[in-house]
Amino acid sequence: MLAQRLIERKRDGHRVEPGEWRALVLAYTAGHIPDYQMAALLMASYIRGLDRQESIALMEAMLASGDRFALDDLGAPRVDKHSIGGIGDKVSLVLAPLVAGEGVIVPMISGRSLGHTGGTLDKLESIPGFRTDLSLSAARAQIERLGCAMIGQTNEIAPADRKMYALRDATATVESIPLIAASIMSKKLAEGLTGLVLDIKQGSGSLLPELERGIELAELMIAMAADHGCPAVALTTAMDRPLGRAIGNALEVEEAILSLKGEGPADLMEVTYALGVEMLLIAGAADSRETARRRLEDAIATGRAAERFRGIIEAQGGDPRVVDDLSLLPQAAECELYTAPRRGFIARVEPRVIGRGVVELGGGRTSMEGRIDHAVGFVITARPGDWVEAGEPLATVFARDRAGAERGKHVLGAAILIADEAERPLPLISRRVTATGVTVLDS
Ligand code: URA
Repeated sequence: MLAQRLIERKRDGHRVEPGEWRALVLAYTAGHIPDYQMAALLMASYIRGLDRQESIALMEAMLASGDRFALDDLGAPRVDKHSIGGIGDKVSLVLAPLVAGEGVIVPMISGRSLGHTGGTLDKLESIPGFRTDLSLSAARAQIERLGCAMIGQTNEIAPADRKMYALRDATATVESIPLIAASIMSKKLAEGLTGLVLDIKQGSGSLLPELERGIELAELMIAMAADHGCPAVALTTAMDRPLGRAIGNALEVEEAILSLKGEGPADLMEVTYALGVEMLLIAGAADSRETARRRLEDAIATGRAAERFRGIIEAQGGDPRVVDDLSLLPQAAECELYTAPRRGFIARVEPRVIGRGVVELGGGRTSMEGRIDHAVGFVITARPGDWVEAGEPLATVFARDRAGAERGKHVLGAAILIADEAERPLPLISRRVTATGVTVLDS
């Protein structure tokens, strides 16, 4: 009866009270409310929206559905980064080992690929043997030794979100600011953080393409974190084109390892350093932006960050030799160059088309249960604004067979638009959002 009453109330545009959200989420997590009722409530919430108090109450109920990662006694600041997801976004793979070597604990709990976006866990699992399903106690032991663990959402962390996110994915209710904020923050606040840095993607490849909606989401998540005494800051970054060159699980790990060795693409490194600087500042591990940036650059230049990643891989059961021998990563059977069909400017590299293309090649999933092929994907060297001649190589398709290679070339033909005029891409990093306001960074 409770669920039906609340569905009706939300459907008609009225509020659901904090105690009701709590009871509902508890009952749903325990299996006492069927998916069809929760799906109806989520759709009503998607359409009618939740006010700030309701959003916070929903997040708190989801957080309370599970355990917290108890790391307070370790003494060091604990900071994580969360991105709302993008194409080619392998920042976490570079950032976690980079920052963890600098006196900050990074208890990173990540997600899997879903729809057109990739997921950190799937990328990590392309490293032979790498396990992301550590229990919280195993992750804690690793954190004590290495300052970092990169794991998936366990049954212990926000189990309500686990069920609700899968349901939202199947019922077209993902792109809602209150529902995204409640979902992400119920997991992040369970990590027992002392600081959180958010990467809010802007542009056609983002869950929320418009900058204003991204800022609204950032402000809501920052307020939720503040209620838990956790300072948070967000950067808005471009997702009107893929980040870096590689898109696809093993290909992204390869690019991340090269980045940790100082050979990363400029855009990926710029976003990684910008988020890393915010992590060191929020942790109190650096006293200025300049010092923080220098430390991070030094960690890459000296090989400290790459060594930390090797340690994390080994601790989580993976083959640490991949750091020196990229051929140990899964390799696609077919690699095919894609060349420019005409001369002109690269006007767009459409991230959603590329992301869906990876799914078509078998490298992503259309449901939470789907299996993926880690080796497939694209490496796109063409960047918006480049001038190209007909026949010039723009990208490579990595596929499991000939048919996949052909399909991949089709995808690239649809995603890479060549025109007589260049289009202006979005600025790579455009806004910094904190509890006190929004700063414009791209003026
Ligand atoms: N990532 C999440 O974890 N939850 C959402 O709702 C959207 C992105």
